[in-house]
Amino acid sequence: MSDRTRPCEVCGEPIDPERIDVLPETRLCTEHAKQVARYGGEFLLTATQSSLGKDGSLKKNYGDVSVSRKRNTEGVRRLIDDYDRGRKG
Ligand SMILES: [Zn+2]
Repeated sequence: MSDRTRPCEVCGEPIDPERIDVLPETRLCTEHAKQVARYGGEFLLTATQSSLGKDGSLKKNYGDVSVSRKRNTEGVRRLIDDYDRGRKG
């Protein structure tokens, strides 16, 4: 048994360890990662660009772009709701 897997937040099935290798932060199995796409995906990406340009300068000075990956907790919650409804019939 692999200790690299963990249960899917939606269905409780073990997540494919290969998926965890690729996306260590995931908490969804392959199936539910696909389904959460309709709510925007498991993760929301936010790119923030640091501004280095001086005020009033027309010259654009591109600084670092940092991308933060935030869990789409709202989307995952809605998927869990869908899943629970589905089980109740
Ligand atoms: Zn699942």
